Amino acid sequence: MADDCVFCEIVAGRIPADVVHETATVVAFRDLSPQAPLHVLVVPREHAVDAAELADHHPDRLAELVKVARDVAAESGHESYRLVFNTGAEAGQSVFHTHLHVLAGRVLTWPPG
Ligand code: AMP
Repeated sequence: MADDCVFCEIVAGRIPADVVHETATVVAFRDLSPQAPLHVLVVPREHAVDAAELADHHPDRLAELVKVARDVAAESGHESYRLVFNTGAEAGQSVFHTHLHVLAGRVLTWPPG
């Protein structure tokens, strides 16, 4: 667990979140500022600053994030969804605990902003 990490606090149950799915190693909860009708963040319980660091230390966890994302989308009735790892501040990362955005429920354009 890292100091001052909001997602570590959510995983520990010290900050409330709208949790939609949990496994022994992963937690999925709704984004506070949803950008689509379904906008969920899937996070590993252990702290890693981004997806690449998670891949270095827990490669199996990356696959679990994707599988939980698929299940969350399916549970909401969505076959199509977008998965995003913002990595680094210039790419839009604002919370430095690995999180996979799951977005669905509207037409998603490309390229992203
Ligand atoms: P990113 O900008 O890719 O790092 O994404 C961080 C996301 O976390 C943003 O979409 C925020 O809206 C979301 N967020 C920040 N704090 C919370 C929180 N306490 N509960 C749920 N979502 C949060």
